[in-house]
Amino acid sequence: MEASTADCLFCKIVAGEVPATIVRETGTALAFRDINPQAPTHVLVIPKEHHPTAAELAAASPALLADVVTLAAEVAAEEGVDGTGYRIVLNTGPHAGQTVFHVHAHLLGGRGLEWPPG
Ligand code: C5P
Repeated sequence: MEASTADCLFCKIVAGEVPATIVRETGTALAFRDINPQAPTHVLVIPKEHHPTAAELAAASPALLADVVTLAAEVAAEEGVDGTGYRIVLNTGPHAGQTVFHVHAHLLGGRGLEWPPG
């Protein structure tokens, strides 16, 4: 998998070419606030390396997927939503509403979340 793709929005956020409100960063992953938050805490966590979907990331680099989940959990603790609980969502494909094909984990918390999701 290429390290980045020229027309990928989230690769541009990693490169600092598109602004984002970054909340936490590691050597391999980046967490930033969703511009259209659906919960009091709504943070996107991405690998810095470009992989289109969660399944492709898991196949290419399981450790990097673990880095993303670990960073999401760290942000949840930092935001104070780990006690009440939170949701990590990996939308995949059109029926799930994936619009950006650079894998991203939605970290949602700070309110009761319905199940099943819409
Ligand atoms: O799962 P899906 O692909 O729909 O999620 C993309 C998310 O990226 C949306 O929640 C959208 O609000 C967010 N986004 C963002 N910053 C951008 C563009 C999109 O936070 N510049």
